[in-house]
Amino acid sequence: MTQINETPRRRTTAGRRPVGKVLPGDARRHHRALILQQLVDDGARSRADLARETSLTRVTISDLVSELMDEGFLVELGTRPGTHMGKPATLVGISEEAPVAIALDLSADGVLSGAVVDLGGLILVREQVAFSRGDDIAAIAALAQHLRDATPRRILGVGIGTPGIVDTHGTVVIAPNLGWDNLDLAAQLSAALGLPVHAGNDSNVAAVAESAFGAGDDQGMLLLMIGSGVGGGVMIDGRALAGPLQSSGEIGHVVVDPDGRQCACGNRGCLETFLSAPALKQLDNDDARRDVGLKLATVLTPVVTTLGIADVVLYGPAELLEGALLDSVRGAFAQQTLPFVAQRVQVRLVPMRDELVLTGAAALVRYRELGVV
Ligand SMILES: [Zn+2]
Repeated sequence: MTQINETPRRRTTAGRRPVGKVLPGDARRHHRALILQQLVDDGARSRADLARETSLTRVTISDLVSELMDEGFLVELGTRPGTHMGKPATLVGISEEAPVAIALDLSADGVLSGAVVDLGGLILVREQVAFSRGDDIAAIAALAQHLRDATPRRILGVGIGTPGIVDTHGTVVIAPNLGWDNLDLAAQLSAALGLPVHAGNDSNVAAVAESAFGAGDDQGMLLLMIGSGVGGGVMIDGRALAGPLQSSGEIGHVVVDPDGRQCACGNRGCLETFLSAPALKQLDNDDARRDVGLKLATVLTPVVTTLGIADVVLYGPAELLEGALLDSVRGAFAQQTLPFVAQRVQVRLVPMRDELVLTGAAALVRYRELGVV
């Protein structure tokens, strides 16, 4: 039987460190990232704690903490209540006035959502406007500007989660639903706003959010976002998987029935034609829901087994996924893979209200601007 665990696991932060090659010139930025990461993950602590936990010298810690305080990221929070003899340690922590990100979400049909999100992933202000295929991207810049005006805090940057294949420069290579083809979205928004802008695929940024702010296992997680379409994002070894085609996670367009319905991508019978929210709404009995669960498991099992992932997240409308469909996915997993894997994989549900695309877009800004994962 598949191991089922509805309770979000406590995410361990041990070994979670900003990743990537460190060049000598990046050392200062990397050291700042280590300090911010520790404070974001584990809360206020003393400079001595930070020195011990990051293996940086006390002199370096003092220097960088002062710099981060001057920039408004950190504040002193008084002394730790009576513990050691001698001089009490002063705690430092993330400031309640620290810079924030503007996050934008284009994943929903006909709607553009935006938010001001703090460094801990908390949504402070939320707005939405109508946005459809053919609308000018000036409308996106206008919402970002509106959000910027809605907060007195410094803006670190703008993050945007969009459907489609998005490269590392924030160019939307292709997004059929929005009619975009090689649109340099991040560059255009950045020029309009005078702020750094980072764009990513909506499902990929949702996976980043579940790992940065939720219960996601960033060492190995597959998140399937089920909305007007079906997309996926993979976290592996602490980072979001992109792949040379930048199309990692596009699992919704694996064909499960070659004679099935026409899909927006041009093929027939893609997983998306069965599993999207509009398709699920049409199902009127549990046998049909179990059948979709089986199709989903047949696509997921080889991927999950190959990558050695234990955390599988279905992110979507709980009322459509809970019950027969989810039970069927879990049951099929147990039968279709190695018992060793089946016993360890958990398939869990994250409801749409968690706003993972918005918080993930903010996490993208946090990572690209500060190196904090
Ligand atoms: Zn398709």
